[in-house]
Amino acid sequence: MVRTAEAVVVGAGSFGSSLAYHLARQGLRDVVLIDRFEVGAQTSPRAAGLTQQIRRERETTLLAKLSVEKLIRFTEETDIPLEFHQSGSVKMARDAAGVAQVEWEIRAGGELGLDIRSIAADELTARAPWARTDGVLAMWITPSDLFLEPRQVPQVYTAAARAAGVTVLTGTPVTGLERERGSGRVTGVTTSQGAISAPIVVDAAGAWTRQVAEEAGIRIPVVPMRHQLMITEPMPGIRNEQPICRVIDANVYVRPCWGGLMLGGYEANPLPFEMRDASPEFQIADIPLDVGVLRGLASAVRDQFPGLEDAPLQQYRGGLPTMTADGKYIAGAVPGAEGFFTATGCVVGGLSIAPGMGEMLAQVILTGSSSIPLDIFAVDRFSPDFAEEELVAACVGAYAHHYAEDYAAVR
Ligand SMILES: Cc1cc2nc3c(=O)[nH]c(=O)nc-3n(C[C@H](O)[C@H](O)[C@H](O)COP(=O)(O)OP(=O)(O)OC[C@H]3O[C@@H](n4cnc5c(N)ncnc54)[C@H](O)[C@@H]3O)c2cc1C
Repeated sequence: MVRTAEAVVVGAGSFGSSLAYHLARQGLRDVVLIDRFEVGAQTSPRAAGLTQQIRRERETTLLAKLSVEKLIRFTEETDIPLEFHQSGSVKMARDAAGVAQVEWEIRAGGELGLDIRSIAADELTARAPWARTDGVLAMWITPSDLFLEPRQVPQVYTAAARAAGVTVLTGTPVTGLERERGSGRVTGVTTSQGAISAPIVVDAAGAWTRQVAEEAGIRIPVVPMRHQLMITEPMPGIRNEQPICRVIDANVYVRPCWGGLMLGGYEANPLPFEMRDASPEFQIADIPLDVGVLRGLASAVRDQFPGLEDAPLQQYRGGLPTMTADGKYIAGAVPGAEGFFTATGCVVGGLSIAPGMGEMLAQVILTGSSSIPLDIFAVDRFSPDFAEEELVAACVGAYAHHYAEDYAAVR
């Protein structure tokens, strides 16, 4: 039997759950949020859970800032508990390019009303006694940045979506998109449990985004890329009030976690993932991990965070965030397929942007525009002829230079 809905959101990760909630909040009464596995069980729960509000583009900074504000207000708005630590975040520069970036970010953030300022060595070591400033030439701090246990984000947004009337279907893969002959309009989805007709369909399927769209011959140019982190055993003096620290040229982040330190980062030779080769049973937990990569990243920051190269570990984990060729998100309508939208290309920053992105994309879907414009994230900024090898190479480059990418162009 064919079921009908006002909107179908494919994927109950951070992006999909936030979007489903905001579609309902903004007036839709019959939204279906659908996942092939369980809610929030794929890449989202494996994230580090960090925010960084200053970003390269104005729109991204505004979205990241809105997202932090929404996380802080979430429990008041929904009555659903959400735990976070507003410890602030620090960025460290160890070379001239990094110093220029730190200065640019302080200026650009200040212009947008962000509480970002430079921080002296003694203030950092008072806030984070485990951090050293040897070799550090400049730093900023954003005191309002925060971190949280990542699995909460899709869980609490799905709970809020349910409370707002959204139907959540799990264990139900979307197997195809229905399109109107002639116009190409998307009119619904087919699933393992039958078809759902809907005038609005959103592809928020994370590492599977391309596969969902390709069912209808639509190409969304993202490349899933392995990203990993490790968490040390508890060490004396580590507390959740201590800030997140990032080292620009090493592409490494460190934060307190479970009494120890979490370290993650962006390797120079990352592992792109071809989802076409994955079996239908494949889940993100199945990706091969390589703790050697993390130990190597730890050694690149040994002067700032000593002892992490061989510290005993509680856990290491990884997931498949989706990269784009220019390191910007993809969000909005998919041209040539009326009724079809996507929220993808998370560029290893989807968890923390999902609250604001969900609200803005819901506005775009329901009214055609949003209070923070999403135009720079349009999927058609990429040519349909973008060759696959070039796309993978560009995404590898965007990943490998994640913290420093393209600042010269912005200035
Ligand atoms: C180690 C690591 C650290 C990270 N750190 C951070 C961080 O500090 N801050 C930050 O903002 N981001 C971080 N990220 C990135 C963040 O995890 C992602 O941006 C975010 O999880 C992307 O969410 P998503 O909804 O796109 O994907 P997912 O969480 O993977 O959700 C996609 C969902 O779609 C479902 N799906 C797929 N195909 C179908 C189908 N055919 N039918 C139905 N459902 C389907 C899947 O089952 C899945 O549940 C990190 C990632 C990793 C791996």
